[in-house]
Amino acid sequence: MALVNENYLKLPGNYLFAEIARRVSQFKNNNPDADIIRLGIGDVTRPLPAAVIEAMKKGVEEMSREETFRGYGPEQGYSFLIEKIIENDFRPRGVELAGDEVFVSDGAKSDTANFQEILGSGNVVAVTDPVYPVYVDSNVMAGRTGSTDGGRFEGIVYLPCTEENGMKPSLPDKRVDMLYLCFPNNPTGMTLSKEELKKWVDYARENRTVILYDAAYEAYIREDGVPHSIYEVEGAKEVAVEFRSFSKTAGFTGTRCAYTVVPRDVKVYDSTGKAHSLNPLWLRRQTTKFNGVSYPVQAAAAGVFTEEGKRQVRELVDYYMENAGIIREGLTAAGYRLYGGVNAPYIWMKTPGSMGSWEFFDKLMKEAHVIGTPGAGFGASGEGYFRLTAFGSRENTLRAVERIKSRM
Ligand code: PLP
Repeated sequence: MALVNENYLKLPGNYLFAEIARRVSQFKNNNPDADIIRLGIGDVTRPLPAAVIEAMKKGVEEMSREETFRGYGPEQGYSFLIEKIIENDFRPRGVELAGDEVFVSDGAKSDTANFQEILGSGNVVAVTDPVYPVYVDSNVMAGRTGSTDGGRFEGIVYLPCTEENGMKPSLPDKRVDMLYLCFPNNPTGMTLSKEELKKWVDYARENRTVILYDAAYEAYIREDGVPHSIYEVEGAKEVAVEFRSFSKTAGFTGTRCAYTVVPRDVKVYDSTGKAHSLNPLWLRRQTTKFNGVSYPVQAAAAGVFTEEGKRQVRELVDYYMENAGIIREGLTAAGYRLYGGVNAPYIWMKTPGSMGSWEFFDKLMKEAHVIGTPGAGFGASGEGYFRLTAFGSRENTLRAVERIKSRM
């Protein structure tokens, strides 16, 4: 008799987006003429930049000729892309990395979910609340938690982000072994300054904690003083792994390319207290379980770093950030209390009065025909909040804001 991995049974179904889809579909059935605007999704809508398409076409061309055809590639990524990543994303910020510290992958989702595999199953995990659900669910699957009361899992240390702390988590009041941080944050859109981030790095160094730092939205940072990489903070190379993605930077959500930085100096310990570098363990994991990203897609990702590519990516991110500004200005003028949207494509709003997240979702859908994401779906501390994204078209963003102002 094959037994099930019972950890999977602890997970509720993918309740949030399924429930949103159910409510929207019911509303549409009853109101077939309603012109619904979706500002709920965390997916980009603009096409790939021309420089990326050119580079991808060239990569495909090369695959068609015997002299330039490529079969299995290195699982950790081609050096032509890794060198460009280091040269463009890190060196200008004073961060030196070796080529074997960067691992190209098919997504920050897969990497943030898989990375816990090479860490001890008895480790105590901390996450911010609200949180990108993948960090929690992957640790539930791995058996690091007890069951859930619907909002929180037993055994996980939750670090609330609320209006009281300005959506910035406080350090854990107990020792944790693995700490997930995401800045710019999904869903709150908030960032930490270099000084604020240093407190976390210091905590990790004191407690031998590994920080799993998700910087998938790094390209959206606009303000000075906000670190683009955790390695801008002194000592971070001893304690932090950083996840990056081309998804939101260059429109790769359907194309798939990301990378993870695992500095050789990040150490974990065995039961005798002996230190082991995480870097060769991750290499071992990837070479066994991951086939690498296809050559044309890595060629396309390298297109992001050409002069044209950099300009086009900048324009793409600017487009979404102008949307974020439109949402921020419009809703602030309408009296809503907002977070984020300055260095991130997410706007996190307090629901009016004591309205619950889902209650506000229904009201916004019924009265303004606008769809957002209820904050409660990202964790217990997200109750009473609501997420809007800047990833819509300009026209829809303007229309949605007008409707919220006039109908809500
Ligand atoms: N990390 C965060 C915080 C995200 O919000 C997302 C996507 O929404 C991802 C990672 C996934 O990135 P990728 O498309 O590279 O898998």
